[in-house]
Parts: sequence; structure tokens; C-alpha cells
Amino acid sequence: MSIDTSGKWWVGTNPEDIKGFVEAYGTQCSYAVHEFRLAKCVCGSVDFYLDADDTEGVAKRTCVKCSREHFLCDSEEFAEEAEFAHWSCGCGSEVTNVGVGFSLRKKGGEIRWLYVGCRCAKCGILGCFAGWKIDYSPSRQLFDRV
Ligand SMILES: [Zn+2]
Ligand SMILES: [Zn+2]
Repeated sequence: MSIDTSGKWWVGTNPEDIKGFVEAYGTQCSYAVHEFRLAKCVCGSVDFYLDADDTEGVAKRTCVKCSREHFLCDSEEFAEEAEFAHWSCGCGSEVTNVGVGFSLRKKGGEIRWLYVGCRCAKCGILGCFAGWKIDYSPSRQLFDRV
């Protein structure tokens, strides 16, 4: 995998490149990323439609292949209040890879913040579509709900 950082946008050749992007993004936003998980549908696909509400802290991915919907991490709890923005890329694509970067309060500790990263499945542009605070424990089970 590799990330081309030479242009205005970072472009990744591989879904796993979201990791490097959210790590850099997290450092800039002052919450460093310690853990990363790539979203994968139970059918094995990593291509999704993505809808999120950054204010409520809700993100939903819909598998392009099997249409299964999944709320990322703890976001189903807040879904009723959500006003969703639909992810689309400047290239016209609505299909993205999704990965979540987690910032921890301390090494091996609880989550304090998460970033929903994405990579356009068509042109590879990397971005962060939503992010929200986690202020309860235990929280590390969220790693498995990406
Ligand atoms: Zn699927
Ligand atoms: Zn694109």
C-alpha cells in the first residue's frame, strides 16, 4: 500500500491506506490515533455507501454488494436523532472504503475519540467524513463494531 501526498488530496491505492491518513489527520486534530480497524461487511466486501451525522456522532455504512446496513461502533444508539449527510466524491463516485481510527486516553486504555475515515473506491482520494467523542467505559468493544 502507498499514499501519494504530492497533490492537494491524499490518494491511497489500497483500502488499508485509510489508516495512514487518519493517523496523520488525528495528529493534526490533536487526538492521536492509536488503533485502526477497516470496515468489512460479513459478505467480505469493503465497498460501501456511507451516511453520517457529524454532530450526533452517527455513521452508517451500506454494503454495495449485499445491501446490508451497519451502524458504526456506538452510533445506532443515536441514529434516531441523526440528520444524515450522504458521502460522495468529487469524481462522482458514491462508493467508498471505510475505516475507523481510535484515539485512546492512554496506552491500552479507553477510547476518547474516533475518526471515520474513507477512501473513494474509484479515484482513491482519502478523507475523514465524521468524528465523535467517546466518554464512557468500557469502550474497547467498539473496535469490533466498525
Ligand atoms: Zn455485504
Ligand atoms: Zn473519487
